[in-house]
Amino acid sequence: MTATPIPFLDLKAQQARIAADLRRRLDAVLEHCQFVMGPEVAELEATLAKFCGAKHCVAVSSGTDALQIALMAEGVGRGDAVFLPAFTYTATAEVPLVLGATPVFVDVDPRTFQIDPAHLEQRIAEVRAAGLLKPRVLIGVDLFGQPADWPALSAIAAREGLFTLDDLAQSFGGSLHGKMLGSQADATATSFFPSKPLGAYGDGGAMFTESDERAALFRSLRTHGEGPTRYEVLRTGMNGRLDSMQAAVLLSKLTVFPEELAAREKIARYYDSRLGNAVTIPARVPDSTSAWAIYAVLLKDGATRDAVQAALRADGVPTAIYYPRPLHLQPAYRDAHDGAPLPVSEDLATRIMALPIHPDLDDAAVERICDAVIRAVG
Ligand SMILES: *Cc1c(COP(=O)(O)O)cnc(C)c1O
Repeated sequence: MTATPIPFLDLKAQQARIAADLRRRLDAVLEHCQFVMGPEVAELEATLAKFCGAKHCVAVSSGTDALQIALMAEGVGRGDAVFLPAFTYTATAEVPLVLGATPVFVDVDPRTFQIDPAHLEQRIAEVRAAGLLKPRVLIGVDLFGQPADWPALSAIAAREGLFTLDDLAQSFGGSLHGKMLGSQADATATSFFPSKPLGAYGDGGAMFTESDERAALFRSLRTHGEGPTRYEVLRTGMNGRLDSMQAAVLLSKLTVFPEELAAREKIARYYDSRLGNAVTIPARVPDSTSAWAIYAVLLKDGATRDAVQAALRADGVPTAIYYPRPLHLQPAYRDAHDGAPLPVSEDLATRIMALPIHPDLDDAAVERICDAVIRAVG
């Protein structure tokens, strides 16, 4: 007997919930035909800034471009050390390398999976002692929906003179100490890739900052380094613009985003209550809320994970692995790695597993997933 598969993500069900509003907004774009950087983009920027309590929002073409523009604005390049977690999505390490800088991988906390501030301090000391690179940037990633330990990270960065960049790609909608994420660092970059908690129907991203100067630089860099008049090129920039269709989709999705965050939180709590004896459930960052991009559990070891994944697949329960390989072990990045041991990231990669979590997962499906996990673990 094969059970009906549960979708890992259900963008069709979500679309049905917002259909009328979405259609109205898309029709407006088709009507005015300002397809790139049209009025929806400015409206989106204002709405997003208000939503997360940031002074400036600059909408861009993707989360990766948001990270890149932030580092370009800071003039990051050859000889600069950019500290970032080894356990994250590839884009976090790719961007410093594209700009000629060197990623310095930092290990993560084994319970919250967030970058480990104590290990960051150690890595900065190692880079200073080696004397080859200038410690320049910290990219703190808010992984899986939860915030990194920003109070600790910001204190270290201030002491060490590092520019802080918050990679919020997975955690837009999360909060720390009662404040929405978006203004914890000197600059923040988020992504609207369709599978993120707030996703467009294509690529998109946004940058946040409290600094007027930085916001102006981001806007210039997003459009080929243009000056106050369009045909004056002040600096080398890029094409990082957002299109109006994506902004329209995001504005529509923002109307239901708070209730979606609540739905994800409810599922996470149910998983916690049912699965604590079967697997290691994700630890919460104190005094925070999660956007629950990913609900990741830990199995005993890699062999157990393989067996559990296979059993769940047979039960129609999809799982995913974020991340099967830490970045310092990726073929593209291992030459850039200084060889420091990163045991927690390596261990997590062997036995972490993500369960479905999305706002259209109904109670019966969540219950079925829990029953299947408990059965599979045995
Ligand atoms: C998705 C993601 C990005 C990149 O965002 P894109 O919009 O896909 O370019 C960067 N960092 C992290 C942690 C991500 O999860």
